[in-house]
Amino acid sequence: MNTVTIDRIGAYKLTDAKAPMIDPFGRAVTYLRVSVTDRCDFRCTYCMAENMTFLPKKDLLTLEELNRLCSAFIAKGVRKLRLTGGEPLVRKNVMFLVRELGKHVHAGTLDELTLTTNGSQLSKFAAELADCGVRRINVSLDTLDPEKFKQITRWGELSKVMEGIDAAQAAGIHVKINAVALKGFNDTEIPAMMRWAHGRGMDLTLIETMPMGEIDEDRTDHYMPLSEMRDTLAQQFSFSDIPYKTGGPARYLQVAETGGRLGLITPMTHNFCESCNRVRLTCTGTLYMCLGQNDAADLRTPLRASDDDAYLSSVIDEAITRKPKGHDFIIDRTRNKPAVARHMSVTGG
Ligand code: SAM
Ligand code: SF4
Repeated sequence: MNTVTIDRIGAYKLTDAKAPMIDPFGRAVTYLRVSVTDRCDFRCTYCMAENMTFLPKKDLLTLEELNRLCSAFIAKGVRKLRLTGGEPLVRKNVMFLVRELGKHVHAGTLDELTLTTNGSQLSKFAAELADCGVRRINVSLDTLDPEKFKQITRWGELSKVMEGIDAAQAAGIHVKINAVALKGFNDTEIPAMMRWAHGRGMDLTLIETMPMGEIDEDRTDHYMPLSEMRDTLAQQFSFSDIPYKTGGPARYLQVAETGGRLGLITPMTHNFCESCNRVRLTCTGTLYMCLGQNDAADLRTPLRASDDDAYLSSVIDEAITRKPKGHDFIIDRTRNKPAVARHMSVTGG
């Protein structure tokens, strides 16, 4: 067992020889997010352009290779693993990977295997996900209005997502709803979404839109600071800050009127980097040490260089020494380029 203590500023200190991955700022990297495909069956307007060029399929790691990479991270101290994308459930045979990774959950070497999904394929896969050891998932849903849903996702159908949520809950999976807060689109709908989610026993987390990748519109038009949203919601709801954590970047509020929790992910108005415990792996084997920076490490070469994980492990160690203190996202009209050129679908949310 690795032994890690937390000092008074909240940073981790290593007290055992078998190291978890510790970055230069004392943060233990215990959470891996894996984008299993950059493809998606939706084209959410804030995420993608309508005409996207995706990676050639030949550039993708196989699911066996992704499994080996993930297992190497688990051996190095990762306790939580999230599959994302693109849309993870559109990758062919993705359940092979879920089942393999689920073995770590059953063996106790991984605390949590989860995924972020748009829900379109969930009714098909929910029961199998539960069987593989997936206990919680995030479903992204920005509106409860079928017409607006079509507008924001371009290609999605709300009824399919609703069926998926029903299936996931019926399979015993805890569902959290994630919504990107968009001024002039869903800001006035958030109270109704909160009542709906909490009424079904689901937390709702709001996310600030991040300047990642070229899209067909100006993100500034819909950027909604969540500090402003919280003030507006506080006219109708009584909030109390709670220390509840799910291992991710959200801060949670307890909502007295609904009895549920509201999460806030605020990369723009409140930088959450000081407690960052995450790294991100793409479907081509590129490791990003920060969602908002360009520095990356190629893990495909060491993965394919040897069947032994020693070289791979040393490349991961070196990459962790380059994990930056934080991101520098800014949304403002004077910059007409996104802070990061790659879309969120490359590294996953
Ligand atoms: N397709 C899956 C889904 O939508 O849940 C997983 C991948 S998606 C990139 C992950 C999350 O990122 C979603 O909740 C989505 O709303 C969010 N997202 C995408 N682009 C974003 C952006 N530019 N700023 C903030 N959140 C974004
Ligand atoms: Fe697809 Fe998710 Fe991006 Fe929407 S947010 S386009 S569902 S990857």
